[in-house]
Amino acid sequence: MSEDTEFSDKNEDSSSMTSQEKQMNESDLSKQLDADKSEKKNVEAGNCYCGKDRNLNIIELLCANCNRWFHESCIGYQLGKLVPFLTNYVFLCKNCSPTGLETFKKSQAQTFQMCITAIANLQQSSLKEGTNKTMFSKDKEIIPYLEYHWEALTTTPRRVTTSWHVTVTKALIKDIHILFVFEDHPDDGHMYGLINSDLTHIKPNYEAMIKGGTLKVTDMGIQHGKIHYV
Ligand SMILES: [Zn+2]
Ligand SMILES: [Zn+2]
Repeated sequence: MSEDTEFSDKNEDSSSMTSQEKQMNESDLSKQLDADKSEKKNVEAGNCYCGKDRNLNIIELLCANCNRWFHESCIGYQLGKLVPFLTNYVFLCKNCSPTGLETFKKSQAQTFQMCITAIANLQQSSLKEGTNKTMFSKDKEIIPYLEYHWEALTTTPRRVTTSWHVTVTKALIKDIHILFVFEDHPDDGHMYGLINSDLTHIKPNYEAMIKGGTLKVTDMGIQHGKIHYV
């Protein structure tokens, strides 16, 4: 195929180009278009320092200030033990932190938050395995997940007794139709899923933290306390 034929195939797309642009050969042109596209994307979607898209298979943190997602592998701060889909933290990226250093603080998770994180991770693992499950057994999957990942999920010390299983059950039941969906399965018993199965929506509620006065951003970085926005 000659270059001319290839180029004429693209004529429809090139109607808005200047004559100078039309003179560029096809490979230069497509390179140029790709560069424009990715530049635009970085500015608009603008995730992470690397500019790459979100990756739900790895830990990502949302910056409280610029509202961009950052990959754990791109973050310099020693984050400690985490899992994907946490909502009980405050993170500031390098670009937003007054010190130029990332700040990160995980807080005590409420039971419903731990349940959301657990179900989200179970759902994402299932997607990765190709089984695409969205409902998970409370006793066989959700509680074992919480048990296994306790330290990554919250700052509260691990419970000595199993009385927290009841707390989990209560939290799940309380938010059926609000956060969770419920199903009684003949073999697996009580099954729960997320009412919004789009996992990209799972993030810290920074707005509520600022409104509630638990988050303030000062010259010293993130502080918890009375709201006093500087
Ligand atoms: Zn990145
Ligand atoms: Zn930021």
